Amino acid sequence: MEQRQNERVGSVCSDISFSTHSGYYPMIEEPVEKAAQLISRADALLIGAGAGMGVDSGLPDFRGPQGFWSAYPPYERMGLDFVSLANPRWFAEDPELAWGFYGHRMGLYRRTNPHEGFDILRRWASRRPLGGFVFTSNVDGHFQRAGFSTERVVEVHGSFAGMQCIRDCGIGIFPGAPIEVAIEPTTMKAIRPLPACPECGALARPNILMFNDWGWDSERADLQHRNMAQWLESVAGARLVVVECGAGQAIPTVRINSERTVRLCGGTLIRINPREADVPRGHISLPVGALAGLRLLDGRL
Ligand SMILES: [Zn+2]
Repeated sequence: MEQRQNERVGSVCSDISFSTHSGYYPMIEEPVEKAAQLISRADALLIGAGAGMGVDSGLPDFRGPQGFWSAYPPYERMGLDFVSLANPRWFAEDPELAWGFYGHRMGLYRRTNPHEGFDILRRWASRRPLGGFVFTSNVDGHFQRAGFSTERVVEVHGSFAGMQCIRDCGIGIFPGAPIEVAIEPTTMKAIRPLPACPECGALARPNILMFNDWGWDSERADLQHRNMAQWLESVAGARLVVVECGAGQAIPTVRINSERTVRLCGGTLIRINPREADVPRGHISLPVGALAGLRLLDGRL
């Protein structure tokens, strides 16, 4: 999956070599001050976000099977972890199981409000002369909910905003907004009727990239990638800052995009992450949660 995404990071920069290295700051005061100065002087802001961004809104981050199972005890009884469930095979083999899993997440994301950190980022981006752009692996649509234009967001793993037909009848991606799914909580199985394609009546699935997912319709994400590439071209030579929040190493798509962007397009990466805050040499590491880090920085601007 990562390989697929890596190939798309943007047409602006062509180098593909990549190295990780730690430049960890034991004290946070100095990097916070430095990061705040960089943000205040930046012409453009690229925002990277991973699962850790949603944790401060109250969303589970599914770290490890125990974290996932404590959120969803029925799956522990079934012996199914997050990776086993996030697989398109269930839409064919057990649609109630598939929609129980995805329908619950869809409902949870809709009921949850994005935290104040989203507003902070939107405000920062709106005050930069060349604006901002978001690159997120989250599928919850929370950046758009917080007021970011959908033309300025890459949802690299897709979004619940879109649905697709598992028969691939030609309808393409259709809106997910009207779809609601009732779930039996003791089994986590969806209750029929299940979401259906409005064109052919076959089962619908979310337009979200799953594991071993060869049927994902990437048209929407491809357009978003082209938008980002254009934006990066428009900010070439400008002072770019990348603020990355809660993007971990388990599926490092967002981290790779952040590091590659600053390496190839210039600028500084500010990585906010309580557990995996290592950054390439010369960049800034803030080993705190997303909301705490954003508030700290906002207080200095
Ligand atoms: Zn269809």
